[in-house]
Amino acid sequence: MLKINDIYIENRLIASPSKPDREFLFPGKDICPGFCDSHTHFIQFALKKNRLNLSKIESKKELYERLSEWIRVKEREEVTIAEDWDESNWEDEEFPTKKELNKISSKKPIILRRVCGHIAIANDPGLSRIPPTYTIVNHRTGILKEEVVLKINEIFPPSKEGMQEVTLLAQSEIIKLGITSIHDIVIPEHFNLYQALEDKGKLKLSIYGFITENYIDKMKNLKSSYRVKLAGIKIFTDGSIGARTAALKDFHYTQKGNGLLLKNKEELEELIQFANNKGYQLAIHAIGDLAIQMILDAMDKNPIDNPGRHRIEHFELATDEQIREAIEKNIILSMQPNFLKWSKPGGLYEKALGKNYKDNNRICFIMREGGMVTFGSDGMPYGPLFGIKQVTEAPFTPQRIEKMDAIRAYTQGGAYASFKEGEVGSIEEGMRADLVIIDKQGIYMTIIDGRIIYQRES
Ligand SMILES: [Zn+2]
Repeated sequence: MLKINDIYIENRLIASPSKPDREFLFPGKDICPGFCDSHTHFIQFALKKNRLNLSKIESKKELYERLSEWIRVKEREEVTIAEDWDESNWEDEEFPTKKELNKISSKKPIILRRVCGHIAIANDPGLSRIPPTYTIVNHRTGILKEEVVLKINEIFPPSKEGMQEVTLLAQSEIIKLGITSIHDIVIPEHFNLYQALEDKGKLKLSIYGFITENYIDKMKNLKSSYRVKLAGIKIFTDGSIGARTAALKDFHYTQKGNGLLLKNKEELEELIQFANNKGYQLAIHAIGDLAIQMILDAMDKNPIDNPGRHRIEHFELATDEQIREAIEKNIILSMQPNFLKWSKPGGLYEKALGKNYKDNNRICFIMREGGMVTFGSDGMPYGPLFGIKQVTEAPFTPQRIEKMDAIRAYTQGGAYASFKEGEVGSIEEGMRADLVIIDKQGIYMTIIDGRIIYQRES
Protein backbone atom coordinates (compact mmCIF):
# COMPACT_ATOMS: atom_id res chain seq x y z
CA MET A 1 0.00 0.00 0.00
CA LEU A 2 1.24 3.43 -0.85
CA LYS A 3 1.29 5.92 1.95
CA ILE A 4 0.79 9.09 0.00
CA ASN A 5 -1.49 12.02 0.31
CA ASP A 6 -1.61 13.37 -3.20
CA ILE A 7 -3.01 11.53 -6.16
CA TYR A 8 -3.98 13.27 -9.35
CA ILE A 9 -6.71 12.08 -11.61
CA GLU A 10 -7.44 13.16 -15.13
CA ASN A 11 -10.02 11.74 -17.51
CA ARG A 12 -10.71 8.69 -15.34
CA LEU A 13 -6.99 7.88 -15.13
CA ILE A 14 -4.22 8.40 -12.67
CA ALA A 15 -2.27 11.34 -14.11
CA SER A 16 1.20 12.68 -13.54
CA PRO A 17 1.35 15.32 -10.81
CA SER A 18 2.10 18.08 -13.33
CA LYS A 19 -1.38 18.33 -14.79
CA PRO A 20 -3.88 17.80 -12.06
CA ASP A 21 -7.55 17.71 -12.92
CA ARG A 22 -8.61 16.64 -9.51
CA GLU A 23 -6.69 16.40 -6.31
CA PHE A 24 -7.49 14.35 -3.24
CA LEU A 25 -5.74 15.16 -0.01
CA PHE A 26 -5.87 12.58 2.76
CA PRO A 27 -3.16 13.03 5.32
CA GLY A 28 -2.90 10.04 7.62
CA LYS A 29 -4.91 7.74 5.41
CA ASP A 30 -3.72 4.93 3.18
CA ILE A 31 -4.63 4.76 -0.43
CA CYS A 32 -4.54 1.62 -2.50
CA PRO A 33 -5.96 0.35 -5.78
CA GLY A 34 -9.63 -0.62 -5.70
CA PHE A 35 -10.10 -4.19 -4.51
CA CYS A 36 -10.98 -6.96 -6.94
CA ASP A 37 -13.01 -9.81 -5.47
CA SER A 38 -11.97 -12.68 -7.76
CA HIS A 39 -14.71 -15.14 -6.87
CA THR A 40 -18.28 -13.94 -6.40
CA HIS A 41 -21.84 -15.17 -6.83
CA PHE A 42 -23.16 -11.67 -6.89
CA ILE A 43 -26.73 -12.23 -8.04
CA GLN A 44 -27.32 -14.78 -5.27
CA PHE A 45 -26.11 -12.15 -2.83
CA ALA A 46 -28.34 -9.52 -4.45
CA LEU A 47 -31.43 -11.72 -4.33
CA LYS A 48 -31.02 -12.15 -0.60
CA LYS A 49 -31.31 -8.36 -0.17
CA ASN A 50 -35.03 -8.56 -0.67
CA ARG A 51 -35.73 -11.73 1.24
CA LEU A 52 -36.41 -12.64 4.80
CA ASN A 53 -33.13 -13.64 6.42
CA LEU A 54 -33.51 -16.37 9.02
CA SER A 55 -29.88 -16.67 10.13
CA LYS A 56 -30.39 -14.86 13.45
CA ILE A 57 -33.57 -16.70 14.39
CA GLU A 58 -33.31 -18.61 17.67
CA SER A 59 -36.30 -20.94 17.64
CA LYS A 60 -38.87 -22.42 15.32
CA LYS A 61 -41.54 -20.36 17.05
CA GLU A 62 -39.65 -17.15 16.30
CA LEU A 63 -39.23 -18.27 12.69
CA TYR A 64 -42.99 -18.63 12.25
CA GLU A 65 -43.67 -15.28 13.90
CA ARG A 66 -41.21 -13.49 11.62
CA LEU A 67 -42.49 -15.33 8.56
CA SER A 68 -46.15 -14.47 9.26
CA GLU A 69 -45.25 -10.84 9.80
CA TRP A 70 -43.19 -10.75 6.58
CA ILE A 71 -46.04 -12.23 4.56
CA ARG A 72 -48.49 -9.74 6.05
CA VAL A 73 -46.25 -6.77 5.20
CA LYS A 74 -45.15 -8.07 1.78
CA GLU A 75 -48.68 -8.64 0.64
CA ARG A 76 -47.81 -8.10 -3.02
CA GLU A 77 -44.94 -10.55 -3.08
CA GLU A 78 -45.99 -13.49 -5.22
CA VAL A 79 -43.70 -16.11 -3.70
CA THR A 80 -41.99 -15.91 -0.32
CA ILE A 81 -38.47 -17.31 -0.25
CA ALA A 82 -36.71 -17.06 3.11
CA GLU A 83 -33.02 -17.84 3.45
CA ASP A 84 -30.49 -19.34 5.82
CA TRP A 85 -32.38 -21.09 8.61
CA ASP A 86 -30.10 -23.15 10.81
CA GLU A 87 -31.90 -25.38 13.30
CA SER A 88 -28.58 -26.25 14.98
CA ASN A 89 -28.78 -22.80 16.64
CA TRP A 90 -32.22 -23.55 18.07
CA GLU A 91 -33.10 -25.24 21.30
CA ASP A 92 -35.55 -27.64 19.66
CA GLU A 93 -33.18 -28.36 16.70
CA GLU A 94 -36.13 -29.49 14.58
CA PHE A 95 -36.68 -28.78 10.90
CA PRO A 96 -39.70 -26.63 10.07
CA THR A 97 -42.46 -28.74 8.50
CA LYS A 98 -44.72 -28.47 5.49
CA LYS A 99 -47.78 -28.77 7.69
CA GLU A 100 -46.73 -25.78 9.78
CA LEU A 101 -45.97 -23.73 6.65
CA ASN A 102 -49.38 -24.57 5.22
CA LYS A 103 -50.89 -23.08 8.38
CA ILE A 104 -49.04 -19.82 7.76
CA SER A 105 -50.32 -19.67 4.20
CA SER A 106 -52.38 -22.15 2.26
CA LYS A 107 -52.37 -19.96 -0.85
CA LYS A 108 -49.01 -18.27 -1.23
CA PRO A 109 -45.96 -20.41 -2.10
CA ILE A 110 -43.41 -20.41 0.74
CA ILE A 111 -39.91 -21.81 0.44
CA LEU A 112 -37.46 -21.87 3.33
CA ARG A 113 -33.88 -22.50 2.29
CA ARG A 114 -31.47 -23.93 4.83
CA VAL A 115 -28.14 -22.16 5.45
CA CYS A 116 -26.18 -24.92 3.64
CA GLY A 117 -28.01 -24.16 0.39
CA HIS A 118 -28.66 -27.85 -0.26
CA ILE A 119 -31.93 -28.38 1.63
CA ALA A 120 -35.23 -26.48 1.61
CA ILE A 121 -38.83 -26.90 2.80
CA ALA A 122 -41.87 -25.85 0.81
CA ASN A 123 -45.57 -25.61 1.60
CA ASP A 124 -48.18 -27.18 -0.71
CA PRO A 125 -48.63 -24.11 -2.98
CA GLY A 126 -44.82 -23.99 -3.32
CA LEU A 127 -44.58 -27.70 -4.14
CA SER A 128 -47.26 -27.39 -6.80
CA ARG A 129 -45.11 -24.87 -8.71
CA ILE A 130 -42.03 -27.09 -8.96
CA PRO A 131 -41.78 -28.79 -12.38
CA PRO A 132 -41.91 -32.62 -12.26
CA THR A 133 -38.44 -32.81 -13.87
CA TYR A 134 -36.90 -32.13 -10.46
CA THR A 135 -36.64 -35.45 -8.69
CA ILE A 136 -35.48 -34.88 -5.12
CA VAL A 137 -38.80 -33.42 -4.02
CA ASN A 138 -40.73 -35.10 -1.24
CA HIS A 139 -44.36 -34.09 -1.66
CA ARG A 140 -45.35 -35.67 1.63
CA THR A 141 -42.84 -33.84 3.84
CA GLY A 142 -42.18 -30.82 1.62
CA ILE A 143 -38.42 -31.39 1.82
CA LEU A 144 -36.39 -30.40 -1.24
CA LYS A 145 -32.79 -31.42 -1.82
CA GLU A 146 -29.80 -30.58 -4.05
CA GLU A 147 -30.54 -29.47 -7.64
CA VAL A 148 -34.02 -28.18 -6.99
CA VAL A 149 -32.70 -26.08 -4.10
CA LEU A 150 -29.75 -24.73 -6.06
CA LYS A 151 -32.11 -23.75 -8.90
CA ILE A 152 -34.78 -22.10 -6.76
CA ASN A 153 -34.15 -18.75 -8.47
CA GLU A 154 -34.71 -20.30 -11.87
CA ILE A 155 -37.91 -22.07 -10.76
CA PHE A 156 -39.27 -18.92 -9.10
CA PRO A 157 -37.66 -16.15 -11.15
CA PRO A 158 -37.95 -12.65 -9.72
CA SER A 159 -39.21 -9.87 -11.99
CA LYS A 160 -36.70 -7.97 -14.15
CA GLU A 161 -37.28 -4.72 -12.29
CA GLY A 162 -36.99 -6.49 -8.97
CA MET A 163 -33.71 -8.07 -10.03
CA GLN A 164 -32.27 -4.74 -11.15
CA GLU A 165 -33.32 -3.08 -7.94
CA VAL A 166 -31.68 -5.65 -5.65
CA THR A 167 -28.56 -5.78 -7.81
CA LEU A 168 -28.07 -2.04 -7.35
CA LEU A 169 -28.60 -2.39 -3.59
CA ALA A 170 -26.01 -5.13 -3.44
CA GLN A 171 -23.66 -3.08 -5.61
CA SER A 172 -23.66 -0.15 -3.22
CA GLU A 173 -23.09 -2.52 -0.35
CA ILE A 174 -19.90 -4.02 -1.76
CA ILE A 175 -18.58 -0.67 -3.01
CA LYS A 176 -18.70 0.36 0.66
CA LEU A 177 -16.35 -2.54 1.31
CA GLY A 178 -13.83 -1.08 -1.15
CA ILE A 179 -14.60 -3.44 -4.01
CA THR A 180 -14.40 -1.89 -7.48
CA SER A 181 -14.39 -5.03 -9.60
CA ILE A 182 -15.55 -8.62 -9.33
CA HIS A 183 -14.94 -11.90 -11.12
CA ASP A 184 -18.46 -13.23 -11.05
CA ILE A 185 -19.98 -16.62 -11.72
CA VAL A 186 -23.06 -16.02 -13.81
CA ILE A 187 -25.66 -17.45 -16.12
CA PRO A 188 -26.25 -15.57 -19.41
CA GLU A 189 -29.38 -13.90 -18.06
CA HIS A 190 -27.32 -12.24 -15.31
CA PHE A 191 -24.66 -11.15 -17.78
CA ASN A 192 -27.41 -9.42 -19.77
CA LEU A 193 -28.83 -7.88 -16.61
CA TYR A 194 -25.46 -6.28 -15.82
CA GLN A 195 -25.25 -4.85 -19.33
CA ALA A 196 -28.79 -3.50 -19.08
CA LEU A 197 -27.73 -1.66 -15.92
CA GLU A 198 -24.60 -0.44 -17.68
CA ASP A 199 -26.73 0.94 -20.53
CA LYS A 200 -28.74 2.88 -17.98
CA GLY A 201 -25.52 4.28 -16.53
CA LYS A 202 -26.16 2.55 -13.21
CA LEU A 203 -23.44 -0.05 -13.15
CA LYS A 204 -20.37 1.14 -11.25
CA LEU A 205 -18.50 -2.13 -10.72
CA SER A 206 -16.37 -3.77 -13.38
CA ILE A 207 -17.65 -7.30 -13.86
CA TYR A 208 -15.64 -10.16 -15.35
CA GLY A 209 -18.11 -12.95 -15.93
CA PHE A 210 -17.51 -16.69 -15.93
CA ILE A 211 -20.49 -18.55 -17.35
CA THR A 212 -21.46 -21.77 -15.56
CA GLU A 213 -20.69 -24.78 -17.72
CA ASN A 214 -24.32 -25.82 -18.33
CA TYR A 215 -24.75 -22.63 -20.42
CA ILE A 216 -21.74 -23.10 -22.73
CA ASP A 217 -24.03 -23.20 -25.78
CA LYS A 218 -25.37 -19.74 -25.02
CA MET A 219 -21.96 -18.09 -24.70
CA LYS A 220 -21.70 -17.18 -28.35
CA ASN A 221 -24.53 -14.68 -27.89
CA LEU A 222 -22.67 -12.72 -25.21
CA LYS A 223 -20.41 -9.78 -26.02
CA SER A 224 -18.11 -7.85 -23.73
CA SER A 225 -18.80 -4.17 -23.03
CA TYR A 226 -16.79 -1.50 -21.18
CA ARG A 227 -17.78 -2.66 -17.70
CA VAL A 228 -19.02 -6.19 -18.29
CA LYS A 229 -16.52 -8.57 -19.84
CA LEU A 230 -16.99 -12.17 -20.88
CA ALA A 231 -14.19 -14.17 -19.25
CA GLY A 232 -14.88 -17.81 -19.93
CA ILE A 233 -16.33 -20.87 -18.27
CA LYS A 234 -16.76 -21.95 -14.64
CA ILE A 235 -16.31 -25.69 -14.18
CA PHE A 236 -16.82 -27.88 -11.11
CA THR A 237 -14.61 -30.87 -10.36
CA ASP A 238 -15.57 -31.53 -6.73
CA GLY A 239 -17.62 -30.21 -3.77
CA SER A 240 -16.66 -28.61 -0.46
CA ILE A 241 -14.97 -29.53 2.83
CA GLY A 242 -18.03 -28.53 4.88
CA ALA A 243 -20.27 -30.93 2.94
CA ARG A 244 -17.51 -33.62 2.88
CA THR A 245 -17.76 -33.66 -0.91
CA ALA A 246 -14.30 -32.26 -1.79
CA ALA A 247 -12.48 -35.15 -3.51
CA LEU A 248 -9.56 -36.38 -1.38
CA LYS A 249 -6.45 -38.46 -2.05
CA ASP A 250 -3.83 -37.92 0.70
CA PHE A 251 -6.28 -36.13 3.00
CA HIS A 252 -9.11 -37.98 4.77
CA TYR A 253 -12.45 -37.18 6.33
CA THR A 254 -12.98 -38.04 9.96
CA GLN A 255 -16.20 -39.73 8.92
CA LYS A 256 -16.25 -42.23 6.09
CA GLY A 257 -15.96 -41.36 2.43
CA ASN A 258 -13.42 -39.46 0.35
CA GLY A 259 -15.70 -37.06 -1.46
CA LEU A 260 -16.39 -37.35 -5.15
CA LEU A 261 -15.06 -36.20 -8.50
CA LEU A 262 -17.65 -34.53 -10.70
CA LYS A 263 -15.61 -34.95 -13.91
CA ASN A 264 -12.96 -37.19 -15.36
CA LYS A 265 -9.64 -36.23 -16.89
CA GLU A 266 -10.80 -36.76 -20.49
CA GLU A 267 -13.75 -34.41 -20.05
CA LEU A 268 -11.41 -31.80 -18.62
CA GLU A 269 -8.93 -32.18 -21.46
CA GLU A 270 -11.74 -31.61 -23.93
CA LEU A 271 -12.86 -28.48 -22.09
CA ILE A 272 -9.30 -27.13 -22.02
CA GLN A 273 -9.00 -27.66 -25.76
CA PHE A 274 -12.40 -26.10 -26.39
CA ALA A 275 -11.54 -23.06 -24.26
CA ASN A 276 -8.18 -22.59 -25.95
CA ASN A 277 -9.81 -22.75 -29.40
CA LYS A 278 -12.47 -20.20 -28.49
CA GLY A 279 -10.26 -17.90 -26.43
CA TYR A 280 -12.12 -18.58 -23.21
CA GLN A 281 -10.52 -18.64 -19.81
CA LEU A 282 -11.34 -21.54 -17.47
CA ALA A 283 -12.09 -21.13 -13.78
CA ILE A 284 -11.98 -24.68 -12.46
CA HIS A 285 -13.36 -25.36 -8.99
CA ALA A 286 -11.15 -27.83 -7.08
CA ILE A 287 -10.80 -28.08 -3.31
CA GLY A 288 -9.55 -31.60 -2.58
CA ASP A 289 -6.12 -32.94 -3.63
CA LEU A 290 -7.70 -35.63 -5.83
CA ALA A 291 -9.58 -33.01 -7.85
CA ILE A 292 -6.50 -30.77 -7.97
CA GLN A 293 -4.37 -33.66 -9.27
CA MET A 294 -6.86 -34.41 -12.03
CA ILE A 295 -6.69 -30.80 -13.23
CA LEU A 296 -2.90 -30.79 -13.10
CA ASP A 297 -2.83 -33.99 -15.18
CA ALA A 298 -5.31 -32.63 -17.69
CA MET A 299 -3.27 -29.42 -17.98
CA ASP A 300 -0.50 -31.47 -19.60
CA LYS A 301 -2.50 -30.78 -22.76
CA ASN A 302 -2.28 -27.02 -22.17
CA PRO A 303 0.72 -24.93 -23.37
CA ILE A 304 3.15 -24.64 -20.46
CA ASP A 305 2.99 -20.82 -20.40
CA ASN A 306 -0.81 -21.07 -20.00
CA PRO A 307 -1.71 -18.22 -22.39
CA GLY A 308 -5.42 -18.62 -21.53
CA ARG A 309 -4.53 -17.92 -17.88
CA HIS A 310 -6.69 -20.83 -16.75
CA ARG A 311 -7.24 -20.85 -13.03
CA ILE A 312 -8.01 -23.23 -10.23
CA GLU A 313 -10.67 -21.89 -7.87
CA HIS A 314 -10.10 -22.54 -4.14
CA PHE A 315 -7.09 -24.92 -4.35
CA GLU A 316 -7.53 -25.51 -0.62
CA LEU A 317 -6.01 -28.94 0.00
CA ALA A 318 -2.98 -29.04 -2.29
CA THR A 319 0.10 -31.12 -1.45
CA ASP A 320 3.66 -29.72 -1.76
CA GLU A 321 4.20 -31.45 -5.11
CA GLN A 322 0.86 -30.21 -6.43
CA ILE A 323 1.70 -26.65 -5.46
CA ARG A 324 5.01 -26.87 -7.32
CA GLU A 325 3.39 -28.49 -10.35
CA ALA A 326 0.66 -25.81 -10.52
CA ILE A 327 3.35 -23.12 -10.43
CA GLU A 328 5.38 -24.86 -13.13
CA LYS A 329 2.29 -24.96 -15.32
CA ASN A 330 1.64 -21.26 -14.71
CA ILE A 331 -1.85 -21.89 -13.37
CA ILE A 332 -3.47 -18.98 -11.57
CA LEU A 333 -4.56 -19.90 -8.05
CA SER A 334 -7.78 -18.16 -7.09
CA MET A 335 -8.00 -18.48 -3.32
CA GLN A 336 -10.20 -17.19 -0.49
CA PRO A 337 -8.30 -15.82 2.52
CA ASN A 338 -11.59 -15.54 4.45
CA PHE A 339 -11.91 -19.36 4.43
CA LEU A 340 -9.10 -19.37 6.99
CA LYS A 341 -11.77 -18.53 9.55
CA TRP A 342 -12.63 -22.26 9.44
CA SER A 343 -9.00 -23.30 9.92
CA LYS A 344 -8.66 -22.54 13.63
CA PRO A 345 -8.09 -25.45 16.02
CA GLY A 346 -11.48 -27.01 16.80
CA GLY A 347 -13.02 -25.34 13.74
CA LEU A 348 -14.87 -26.76 10.78
CA TYR A 349 -11.73 -27.98 8.97
CA GLU A 350 -10.37 -29.88 11.96
CA LYS A 351 -13.76 -31.47 12.54
CA ALA A 352 -13.99 -32.53 8.90
CA LEU A 353 -10.40 -33.51 8.18
CA GLY A 354 -8.85 -34.56 11.47
CA LYS A 355 -5.11 -34.63 11.85
CA ASN A 356 -4.04 -33.26 8.41
CA TYR A 357 -6.35 -30.29 8.60
CA LYS A 358 -3.55 -27.74 9.13
CA ASP A 359 -2.38 -28.20 5.56
CA ASN A 360 -5.26 -26.19 4.11
CA ASN A 361 -4.94 -22.92 2.20
CA ARG A 362 -1.16 -22.66 2.58
CA ILE A 363 -1.07 -19.26 0.99
CA CYS A 364 2.33 -18.24 2.41
CA PHE A 365 3.99 -21.43 1.18
CA ILE A 366 2.38 -21.01 -2.26
CA MET A 367 3.53 -17.40 -2.59
CA ARG A 368 7.07 -18.24 -1.41
CA GLU A 369 7.28 -20.93 -4.08
CA GLY A 370 6.30 -18.30 -6.65
CA GLY A 371 2.59 -19.03 -7.11
CA MET A 372 0.34 -16.54 -8.89
CA VAL A 373 -2.41 -15.96 -6.36
CA THR A 374 -5.54 -13.88 -6.69
CA PHE A 375 -7.91 -13.34 -3.77
CA GLY A 376 -11.68 -13.48 -3.67
CA SER A 377 -14.33 -14.16 -1.05
CA ASP A 378 -16.86 -16.56 -2.60
CA GLY A 379 -19.25 -14.26 -0.72
CA MET A 380 -18.57 -15.86 2.68
CA PRO A 381 -18.69 -13.01 3.53
CA TYR A 382 -17.80 -10.21 1.11
CA GLY A 383 -15.15 -7.79 2.34
CA PRO A 384 -11.46 -7.68 1.40
CA LEU A 385 -10.51 -6.17 4.76
CA PHE A 386 -12.03 -9.20 6.49
CA GLY A 387 -10.10 -11.58 4.22
CA ILE A 388 -6.88 -9.64 4.72
CA LYS A 389 -7.34 -9.86 8.48
CA GLN A 390 -7.90 -13.62 8.34
CA VAL A 391 -4.80 -14.29 6.24
CA THR A 392 -2.50 -11.96 8.18
CA GLU A 393 -3.67 -13.59 11.42
CA ALA A 394 -3.95 -17.14 10.04
CA PRO A 395 -3.43 -19.89 12.64
CA PHE A 396 -0.47 -21.64 10.94
CA THR A 397 2.78 -20.25 9.52
CA PRO A 398 2.44 -21.72 5.99
CA GLN A 399 -0.91 -19.90 5.71
CA ARG A 400 0.01 -16.52 7.17
CA ILE A 401 1.24 -13.64 4.99
CA GLU A 402 2.07 -9.93 5.38
CA LYS A 403 -0.56 -7.28 4.80
CA MET A 404 1.18 -5.90 1.68
CA ASP A 405 1.15 -9.31 0.04
CA ALA A 406 -2.51 -9.77 0.93
CA ILE A 407 -3.40 -6.40 -0.58
CA ARG A 408 -1.47 -7.26 -3.72
CA ALA A 409 -3.40 -10.52 -4.12
CA TYR A 410 -6.64 -8.56 -3.72
CA THR A 411 -5.61 -5.94 -6.33
CA GLN A 412 -2.81 -6.85 -8.77
CA GLY A 413 -3.72 -10.52 -8.44
CA GLY A 414 -7.24 -9.91 -9.69
CA ALA A 415 -5.99 -7.62 -12.44
CA TYR A 416 -3.60 -10.27 -13.77
CA ALA A 417 -6.17 -13.04 -13.46
CA SER A 418 -8.49 -11.03 -15.73
CA PHE A 419 -5.89 -9.78 -18.27
CA LYS A 420 -6.25 -6.25 -16.90
CA GLU A 421 -2.82 -5.70 -15.36
CA GLY A 422 -2.24 -2.79 -17.77
CA GLU A 423 -5.48 -1.12 -16.69
CA VAL A 424 -6.08 -1.58 -12.98
CA GLY A 425 -4.54 -3.06 -9.85
CA SER A 426 -1.72 -0.61 -9.18
CA ILE A 427 -1.28 3.12 -8.66
CA GLU A 428 0.72 4.31 -11.62
CA GLU A 429 0.33 6.97 -14.26
CA GLY A 430 -2.13 5.92 -16.92
CA MET A 431 -3.91 3.32 -14.82
CA ARG A 432 -7.64 3.62 -14.27
CA ALA A 433 -8.41 5.70 -11.18
CA ASP A 434 -10.18 2.93 -9.25
CA LEU A 435 -8.99 3.57 -5.71
CA VAL A 436 -9.85 3.02 -2.09
CA ILE A 437 -8.87 5.11 0.87
CA ILE A 438 -8.57 3.32 4.18
CA ASP A 439 -8.21 4.52 7.74
CA LYS A 440 -8.32 2.86 11.15
CA GLN A 441 -12.09 2.49 11.02
CA GLY A 442 -12.05 0.75 7.65
CA ILE A 443 -12.96 1.92 4.16
CA TYR A 444 -13.22 5.70 4.07
CA MET A 445 -13.74 6.27 0.37
CA THR A 446 -14.18 4.32 -2.85
CA ILE A 447 -13.31 5.99 -6.16
CA ILE A 448 -14.23 4.47 -9.51
CA ASP A 449 -13.14 5.97 -12.82
CA GLY A 450 -11.89 9.00 -10.92
CA ARG A 451 -15.25 9.70 -9.28
CA ILE A 452 -16.10 9.37 -5.62
CA ILE A 453 -18.73 6.66 -5.47
CA TYR A 454 -18.72 6.18 -1.72
CA GLN A 455 -17.54 8.28 1.18
CA ARG A 456 -18.14 7.28 4.77
CA GLU A 457 -20.09 9.78 6.80
CA SER A 458 -17.86 10.96 9.59
ZN1 LIG B 1 -18.10 -20.17 -5.51
